[in-house]
Amino acid sequence: MRVVKKYGGSSVSTIDKIKNIAIHLSKNKKVGDEIVVVVSAMGKTTDNLMKLANEISLTPDIRELDSLLSTGEQQSISLLSMALKSLDCKSISLTGAQAGIKTTGLHTKNKIESIKTEKIESYLKAGKIVIVAGFQGVNENGDITTLGRGGSDTSAVALAAALRCECEIYTDVPGIYSIDPRVYKKAKKIERISYEEMMEMANLGAGVMETRAVEIGKKYGVKISVGETLGPETGTYICDSSEIIEKKVVTGISISKNVIMVNLENFLVIPKNISIIFSAIAKNGVNVDMISQNEGDNLIGSIGFTCPIADELFLDIALKEVENYIPDIQVIKRSEVVKISLVGIGMISNFGVAAKVFEVLSDIDAKFYQCTTSEISISLIIKIDDTIRVVEKLAEVFSI
Ligand code: ADP
Ligand code: ASP
Ligand code: MG
Repeated sequence: MRVVKKYGGSSVSTIDKIKNIAIHLSKNKKVGDEIVVVVSAMGKTTDNLMKLANEISLTPDIRELDSLLSTGEQQSISLLSMALKSLDCKSISLTGAQAGIKTTGLHTKNKIESIKTEKIESYLKAGKIVIVAGFQGVNENGDITTLGRGGSDTSAVALAAALRCECEIYTDVPGIYSIDPRVYKKAKKIERISYEEMMEMANLGAGVMETRAVEIGKKYGVKISVGETLGPETGTYICDSSEIIEKKVVTGISISKNVIMVNLENFLVIPKNISIIFSAIAKNGVNVDMISQNEGDNLIGSIGFTCPIADELFLDIALKEVENYIPDIQVIKRSEVVKISLVGIGMISNFGVAAKVFEVLSDIDAKFYQCTTSEISISLIIKIDDTIRVVEKLAEVFSI
């Protein structure tokens, strides 16, 4: 059987864990098996490399940053290959470039363009376990690139697509749960989830899978499973919605703490002012998510919007510019909020989900600041302190 197996950062955080994965792989490799392993950097290595770069500059040169960040995965591929060889198991480690992963785009946010698999294929034929560095590739200039945080999932699924095989993602939880099991202990493990739902959940904050990895999986029909590294249980299958018999209205709830909410109040809510505000925000590269507008007497009103915490530095610059243009405007920034998103493909054909959500909030007297919907999700901004009681009640009402 041919397979791509991906082990995340926490699964390779120590030498003992790497040795145990090597023992597992060497024991379970049967004659004829073709195994490609993708590994992330050990534990918090990427964060630590980022901190080092930030000691030089808060905005380090992104070409050099990619060179630096890619070293994390190079450590883990070589260590795992050494561990396998010490068990007399044939293996070889390859960087993204050596594995033929060609990428394009902006440094630190590259996208995979193509994968030349000849080299991997020949090593597989020679009976070797091929260990590929996740999260990295090489661009048209021959420079090392990275794929964005969490990008090893993307490397793994893209390799599985190119090698026409299944992809097994191994991490520190036994599968995909209705809600992050580290936030809500009573969350249930999902047996099967559709690509669409997983993409929406990932995009809205469920960090267990990287959104682009699932997107590639859907595009190329890669069968993906997510389970615990060396764990006893079967994990979760990410598959086509046609393979899911029981279609729930709500499949899961994503929680994202990576959000800041801004309210701009007490100003003339006219198109010119709105344009000034969002031009200043866009010019500073702030990624705006939800937007709401309230108009009071004499056109005096307010605008509310959310953006990622990572953009705060640039948000502050933009807000200063807005205050210069519209002197009376009142700026209120709230970071003690979270975005919770209910996701379910069943929402397409079921009415009244929003009404049920608002009923729950009313029953437990929890306030929400913003709300947006898509075809298969409803997102709400609530107070961080309300997270558990809101999520608990929603989980109960929607039986997830
Ligand atoms: P890895 O380093 O293996 O890539 P990640 O930290 O990226 O692991 O992803 C695993 C984490 O995802 C879990 O520890 C869990 O806290 C979090 N997570 C968030 N939402 C979910 C969910 N719905 N189901 C399972 N895990 C989730
Ligand atoms: N090491 C990279 C990160 O921490 C990529 C990954 O783990 O998927 O973001
Ligand atoms: Mg991850």
